[in-house]
Amino acid sequence: LFITFEGGEGAGKSTQAALLEAHLRAGGHEVVRTREPGGTPGAEALRDFLLFGGHDLSLRAEILTHFAARCEHVDRLIRPALARGAVVICDRFADSTMAYQGYGIGRGDAATIGLIDVLAGQVGLVPDLTLVLTLDRARALERLHARGGRADRYEVADEAFHARVAEGFETIARAHAGRCVRLSADRAAEAIARDVAQLVDARLA
Ligand code: C5P
Repeated sequence: LFITFEGGEGAGKSTQAALLEAHLRAGGHEVVRTREPGGTPGAEALRDFLLFGGHDLSLRAEILTHFAARCEHVDRLIRPALARGAVVICDRFADSTMAYQGYGIGRGDAATIGLIDVLAGQVGLVPDLTLVLTLDRARALERLHARGGRADRYEVADEAFHARVAEGFETIARAHAGRCVRLSADRAAEAIARDVAQLVDARLA
């Protein structure tokens, strides 16, 4: 089973991924919890390059770099784990490329969306379940400020960009209603985790 968490920054994806991992381990499942961009040493190096490298790549180059990291991650970590029966939990996946690069930076331009779709088709791995955590941008910013740390190049983008990304996630969730479930993240982590566990358990049953 391949499960992804999606949504804007500060929605609590990493927290939920960790809580779901604990829940599944308690149930005796082998779990591989990972993240994108990243997940293998090579893909983590590409993550560092993308988020903190200070390079202003052309949009197509940026998209291809995200997919280079994704291919590495899928080939070396995700597919082998799924093949041996593990549950893979991934913090962001191809929907983030569509939301950030397709809608956020590309503004929904048809050629950009088409390129991302083609590349996603080449990767050929679609999540069984995608949990889209939704949170007001104002609440997300409060959480991000409380968390502190190093802001990457996307986090410091303007608010119109983040609004386009949120709209992108909405569009994606509607278009792929079979695998995507939207969950309000404006609740206690434990309450969200209970909903997530129920959805995942239903798919494992
Ligand atoms: O989820 P996490 O905070 O680890 O994501 C790292 C950063 O990468 C975020 O700022 C996110 O917006 C950005 N990102 C991106 N395009 C992607 C994936 C992540 O801009 N395709």
